[in-house]
Amino acid sequence: MSATRPLPQQTELAAGYWEAARRHELAVQRCTACGVLRHYPQERCPECLSAAVEWATLSGRGRIYTYVVAHAAFHPFFQDRLPYVVATIDLEEGVRVVSDLDEPADAIQIGVPVEVFFEELEGEITLPRFRLTKAKR
Ligand code: ZN
Repeated sequence: MSATRPLPQQTELAAGYWEAARRHELAVQRCTACGVLRHYPQERCPECLSAAVEWATLSGRGRIYTYVVAHAAFHPFFQDRLPYVVATIDLEEGVRVVSDLDEPADAIQIGVPVEVFFEELEGEITLPRFRLTKAKR
């Protein structure tokens, strides 16, 4: 019997992120006082401390800044997926996100381009994940 994927916690602070994901869009907070993008969701802007915020839709494209290859499963769901890659990704718009990668570990290098895709989970949760950018056909 296989375990189910652990689900992300839904918080009011991150509601805009999850609502965008359900539309298959990647969104982060943008300070409406100074324009700075930020991720993960925070109550106040780290630059100007304003609480004024909106959700900005991003391209979903970026490059791998760094990554780790997990050889031990920290949850039973990941046991059959070993080894798997967790990466920090520099998005084109200048913010970083952390995601597991839907790719074999030996295909990953720092600096390679990646793109978001969306996985439908139970409970009407849509999870943004990343994979290597495919060449245009
Ligand atoms: Zn600001």
